[in-house]
Amino acid sequence: MRIVFFGPNGSGKGTQATLLKNELGIPHISTGDLLRAAVKAGTPLGIKAKAVMDAGQLVSDDIVLGMLEERITQPDAKGGFILDGYPRNLAQCAALEDLLARIGQPLDVAIKLDVPDSAILARCEIRFAAEHRADDDPAVVRKRLEVYRAQTAPVRRPLRPDRQAQGRRRRGRSAGGVSADFGGAAALKLGRDPTRVG
Ligand code: AMP
Repeated sequence: MRIVFFGPNGSGKGTQATLLKNELGIPHISTGDLLRAAVKAGTPLGIKAKAVMDAGQLVSDDIVLGMLEERITQPDAKGGFILDGYPRNLAQCAALEDLLARIGQPLDVAIKLDVPDSAILARCEIRFAAEHRADDDPAVVRKRLEVYRAQTAPVRRPLRPDRQAQGRRRRGRSAGGVSADFGGAAALKLGRDPTRVG
């Protein structure tokens, strides 16, 4: 199964993706994780990306697409994947459609998590205290939410069933007690512990 998660930072995408990964035995591909690994490894790309990430802005489309393509074409993703953090703008949306068409791996399901900003701010504060991620600093979280509203929220295309032969659209909430409505996506088995920071 090929799944893409949408939702602002702190909406629980990572948590839900991890649950699904364990359930379905397919890799969780997070562009944020790929970038953080490059930062940690101190690669030239990582050094370039760090300042942008710490400021809560988006890393350049070319860099992220290159990393994504390299990861998604690994053998372990042949049987499906859970994509988290991509696409984040309209250009990335078009690039993803092209990439998936090229490798013959169309999306099966797109899931959007809607969470109130107040819950996101509270969650990120907890994560900031625990993990000290610069982009969880409350000022940066506000910036990232702005970027999400301006650049990511308008991304609708992969969520529209008519754009993908097998595409289906799912929406859910992951704030407090989840009232996730994932419709017929029973196979996804989401929501076991949806209140954790993701
Ligand atoms: P995330 O863990 O998904 O919240 O990503 C952490 C940070 O990595 C984001 O705030 C961006 O700076 C960067 N990032 C992750 N995914 C993307 C993407 N698809 N395009 C651009 N920047 C990204």
